[in-house]
Amino acid sequence: MKITFFSAKPYDKQFFDRSNETHGFDIEYHETHLGPHSLGLVDGADAICAFVNDKLNAEVIAGLHERGVKVVALRCAGFNNVDLDAAKQRGIMVCRVPAYSPEAVAEHTVAMILTTNRKTHKAYNRVREQNFSLNGLLGYNLSGKTVGVIGTGKIGKAFIKIMQGFGCNILAYDLYPDAALAEKGVEYVPLETLLQNAHIISLHCPLTPENHYLINQQALSLMKPGVTIVNTSRGGLINTKDIIHALKAKRVGALCIDVYEQEEKLFFRDLSSTIIEDDEIQRLMSFPNVLITAHQAFFTEEALTEIAQITLGNIAQLAENRMPPDSPFRLA
Ligand code: NAD
Repeated sequence: MKITFFSAKPYDKQFFDRSNETHGFDIEYHETHLGPHSLGLVDGADAICAFVNDKLNAEVIAGLHERGVKVVALRCAGFNNVDLDAAKQRGIMVCRVPAYSPEAVAEHTVAMILTTNRKTHKAYNRVREQNFSLNGLLGYNLSGKTVGVIGTGKIGKAFIKIMQGFGCNILAYDLYPDAALAEKGVEYVPLETLLQNAHIISLHCPLTPENHYLINQQALSLMKPGVTIVNTSRGGLINTKDIIHALKAKRVGALCIDVYEQEEKLFFRDLSSTIIEDDEIQRLMSFPNVLITAHQAFFTEEALTEIAQITLGNIAQLAENRMPPDSPFRLA
C-alpha cells in the first residue's frame, strides 16, 4: 500500500518511519503542502497523509479521487481543512487522531506560565552576558493563586492536575461541567466570575463559531489588573487587536500564546530572512511580557509517537475496512 505524505518535516519522517516498521507501507514524503498544485505527486497512491495546513477542498478531493486515492489520513485532531461532504460523495474515507498525549500540551502551558512569571528566558540571556543583576526579574508564587481554566476536557484536566500540585485554587468554566473534577476541589463558575477572579486564565476549549473571540475587549475589561492569559488552544479564541490594546494599556501582566489567529502564514517555517507583513504579530513580539511559541505545545516524543502509531493504524484498518463509520477516528 502506497501513502503519499504531505507537509513532511524531518521529525515526521523519523517518527513515521519508526512506526511503519510494523506495517511496511510504502511511504513517499513530500515537504510541499497538499493543494491543487501538488496533485501530480499523488499518482499511484492508495492513501495520502495530511496535516493542519494542507488544503483538502472539493477540487483537491476530486483530484485525489481521479488518481485512485481511497484514504485521507489526517495526522492531527482538527479537520476544518477538509471538505468532508466532497470526500463522502467520492467514496474517500477520512480519518484523524482525535487525542494524543494531553499532558504534552498541558505541560507546555505550565512552561509558558513559569517562563513569563519567573523570567527564566531573560535570566538565561543575562547570565550569558555576565549580568548577574536581579532587577526586573521579580515573579510571584503560584501557590495560593487562582487559576481560571476554560474548557475542562482532556488537556484542561491534565493542566488542572499540575496546577493543583502547585497549590493553586482552580475556577473552571465548561459547557459540560465534570462532576468528578468538582469532587477534586475544582469550582465550576459562570464565565464572568472566572474572568473577574482569576490571576491566571488558560484556554483549553476548541474554537467554535460560538466562542470565536471569547477573549475580546469586553472580557478583558472584567479581568484582574496584571492577569496572565495563556492560549494553547486556537488563535481565533483571542481578538488580537483587543489584546494588543489591553497590553498597551498595561492591564495584562503576561500573555502566553502557542497559537495565533494568522498562524498559517507564519508557523512551522523559518522566516528569519523574510520581511514579515503581519504587523500584529510584530507588535505582539515587541512586548516584553508576551511569550510566543509556534504551535509547539504538542511537540513531544510521546505525542509524535502516538500520532504516528494512530495514523498508520487508522490507514491499516481502513484498508481492510475494519473501522466502522461511527469510529471517533473516522470522519467520512
Ligand atoms: P476536549 O474535547 O477533550 O476538551 C474540550 C473541552 O472544551 C470540552 O470539555 C468541551 O465541553 C469544552 N468546550 C467546548 N466549547 C466550549 C466553550 N465554548 N466554552 C467552554 N468550554 C467549551 O479537547 P482537548 O483534547 O482537551 O483539546 C482542547 C483544545 O486544545 C483543542 O480543541 C485544540 O484546539 C487544542 N490543542 C492544541 C494543541 C497545541 O499543540 N497547541 C494540540 C492539541 C490540541
